[in-house]
Amino acid sequence: MNVLVINAGSSSLKYQLYDMNNESVLAKGRVERIGMESSILTHEVEGQAEVREVSEILEHTTAVRKVLDMLTHRKFGVLRNIEDIQAVGHRIVHGGESFRESVLIDDEVKLEIRKLFDLAPLHNPAHMMGITAVEANLPGVPQAVVFDTAFHQSMPPSSYLYAIPTVLYRKHKIRRYGFHGTSHDYVSKQAAEFLGRPLDSLKIVSCHIGNGASCTAILNGKSYDTSMGMTPLEGLMMGTRSGDLDPAIVPYTINKEDLTLNEVNSMLNKHSGLMAVSGISSDMREVVQAMEEGSDSARLAFEMYAYRIRKYVGAYAAAMNGIDVLLFTAGVGENSAVLRKRVCEGLTFLGIDLDENRNEVRSGETRRISADRSRVEVLVVPTNEELLIARDTYRLARNRALTDTLGD
Ligand code: AMP
Repeated sequence: MNVLVINAGSSSLKYQLYDMNNESVLAKGRVERIGMESSILTHEVEGQAEVREVSEILEHTTAVRKVLDMLTHRKFGVLRNIEDIQAVGHRIVHGGESFRESVLIDDEVKLEIRKLFDLAPLHNPAHMMGITAVEANLPGVPQAVVFDTAFHQSMPPSSYLYAIPTVLYRKHKIRRYGFHGTSHDYVSKQAAEFLGRPLDSLKIVSCHIGNGASCTAILNGKSYDTSMGMTPLEGLMMGTRSGDLDPAIVPYTINKEDLTLNEVNSMLNKHSGLMAVSGISSDMREVVQAMEEGSDSARLAFEMYAYRIRKYVGAYAAAMNGIDVLLFTAGVGENSAVLRKRVCEGLTFLGIDLDENRNEVRSGETRRISADRSRVEVLVVPTNEELLIARDTYRLARNRALTDTLGD
């Protein structure tokens, strides 16, 4: 079965086509600048030169049609015709409390996703455009939705409630949802497999450290607590996001700087974090380079970033009354040995003992970076959210096909 994975944004659409017989990626690419002048489609097939096509793509239905044209292109394509796509999986940022797992799309599911627009105004409407665009281009093909929040629906109320009037939860569903769930789910399963230990016997702290960053306490395979909150602003310090701060700073800044609420919101999301403290970049590579060249502000940004991860690891070890596995994933987590070292240096009291040579090894594979004597396994696990979306979609579409056959 071939599964097309779609991640639709408001002006972009990323895709990966999987052959689920061997979980290989047949092709991948993205459409950028949808609705703007000179939209760009970039298409990649392993072993071939990247193809770039500039054209006018005004909305998502045309974007999907262009992607399908490319996938079936005489020269650059990998499929004979579009009937060779048997299912489509969509990444959806917010599933609220309605979705605890991935599901196949029907009218009811679409209605629920629409109801969640308020909670994710930047993301969910764009995902919906992707779903509608696929429906228009591939009528009758089963589509699944995989939610960034679903994995965290296992959290107990003591983890997900804020200590504010509970009427706000009852009326407006103000609570912690958590994000990067697809990634935390995927890497924790990979870790258990790598260690040859049952997932439901492990206490894992998973650190997804990319442009956005979150830590999750995974107890017996289920999310027990996570650092992102009602939105992806809470928790760790990130590339451009502040992470945790005293909420009283918001009204205080509005008064002192004569800013609007929107301006402060934008400051906390887009002009804070590594970028703001270093004054150099939101990209950890550039911050580390500047630090090594002697920049004090880069060093401070790096120290704050590592310190906050360390605090969450400690907090989550306490939350689970122990830790068996500490794992790092995503852009920074997978690639920055110096960051991993700094985080782990202050955690020896927990039984975390890094092997410096293993930590320096670069590889695209899951690997152990702790010393043999370390009580806690420290791993680097490359994340692959698209593959998890493809797997869930494949499972749901195959089950539907089986049920349909039995019903005939
Ligand atoms: P992601 O959001 O997972 O795609 O991660 C993107 C981030 O990973 C970039 O902003 C970089 O800061 C970071 N990154 C990628 N490669 C490296 C590296 N070699 N060292 C440090 N950070 C890196």
